[in-house]
Amino acid sequence: MENEQPYQEISQAPRLDWQVNGRGYYGDFGGAFIPEMLHPNVEELRNRYRSILEDSGFQEEFAGLLRDYVGRPSPLYEARRLSEKYGARIFLKREDLNHTGAHKINNTVGQILLARRLGKTRIIAETGAGQHGVATATVCALMNMECVVYMGAVDMARQAPNVARMEMLGAKVVPVQSGSRTLKDATNEAIRDWINHPLDTHYIIGSVVGPHPYPDLVARFQSVISREIRNQLEERTGQPNPDWLVACVGGGSNAAGTFYHYLDIPSVKLVGVEAAGKGIHSGASAASTVLGRPGIIHGSRTLLMQTPDGQITEPYSISAGLDYPGIGPLHAALFQSGRATYLQATDAEALEAAFELTRLEGIIPALEPAHALAKLKSLSFHPDEVVVVCLSGRGDKDLETYIRNLPEKLKTESKSPGKP
Ligand SMILES: *Cc1c(COP(=O)(O)O)cnc(C)c1O
Repeated sequence: MENEQPYQEISQAPRLDWQVNGRGYYGDFGGAFIPEMLHPNVEELRNRYRSILEDSGFQEEFAGLLRDYVGRPSPLYEARRLSEKYGARIFLKREDLNHTGAHKINNTVGQILLARRLGKTRIIAETGAGQHGVATATVCALMNMECVVYMGAVDMARQAPNVARMEMLGAKVVPVQSGSRTLKDATNEAIRDWINHPLDTHYIIGSVVGPHPYPDLVARFQSVISREIRNQLEERTGQPNPDWLVACVGGGSNAAGTFYHYLDIPSVKLVGVEAAGKGIHSGASAASTVLGRPGIIHGSRTLLMQTPDGQITEPYSISAGLDYPGIGPLHAALFQSGRATYLQATDAEALEAAFELTRLEGIIPALEPAHALAKLKSLSFHPDEVVVVCLSGRGDKDLETYIRNLPEKLKTESKSPGKP
């Protein structure tokens, strides 16, 4: 473990087709569409992130925290009963076992180390459901950094436990009262804050979205997922490449991390799963590859759900982490080129898959990766094929939703007489 240097491998990986170009584009998507006043902050980050990430001192510190604080490598678990049901060798990449319960911590640990090397003392973030806010507040406590999290007032009311967690961790949670008082309004406030604090503040973005270099930066931090999958599969099956990789897509960071080292290996089939909410065309979904058109959101050009005159459409999903009206520019390019396939799972399908995994394997997944699990039945596998599903987070945060939606059989059982 001592001389393990994950980023060395990343920087030397033969990623020719899918490397972001110098202007921050993946094909037609990406770039940095930002207000003039934000240029100095984004320029500094763009000019310095590669050399900081490739520095051996940085790599050592990052690898050490991923190991001792996050608990990596996360297990690659061969789910035998699930495999039997779907007729392939199915492995689950257990990001749910990370500290704080999801993959988001991989990115926030990386970004706070980057912020320190940039000489920043103050961290800002925006959050929708609060998951990214909690992951950010966590690393700020760890590094003794001031932390301000912008959150829509509506979201704060809906996600009170996460607000309490962030405050307990020492973050200041600022309610945003403008617009629809949800994620996109919180993002606007965070950008305004950054413009006003260009010298001492780093803005931690939580997915592979935002202006260049954020999509690339976050993908590199999350790429530890596919780096581990490669080693673990080699050990378990004798070869490092699976036949299929399946991951849910909100902004797309856990999927980007799962795909990263396989992007240029065409024999590995990549499947991203978006939220179809109450149905793709119901008016209540977040199926950005089906409903989206090219547009600009959070500073990059990507596929975006919008009205004919370019207003961003309010997205919907039962899972807060997938409730986003766009996808990261890397995914837009993977979709457009056909390198990856994007499927959609409804709320009901995700719930069913979550209950199924719980009963088959004794693992309660978060609602987000339950969308990925829900599409196993739509893919046709050969029995000897190897499938890896990224289990991006655990279900504790979704327990209330699960209890409200218990399958009828479970409901009757729990109502059975004999209990006080
Ligand atoms: C936030 C979240 C997601 C969605 O974010 P991506 O950037 O698309 O990975 C998925 N799963 C879990 C558990 C999350 O918390």
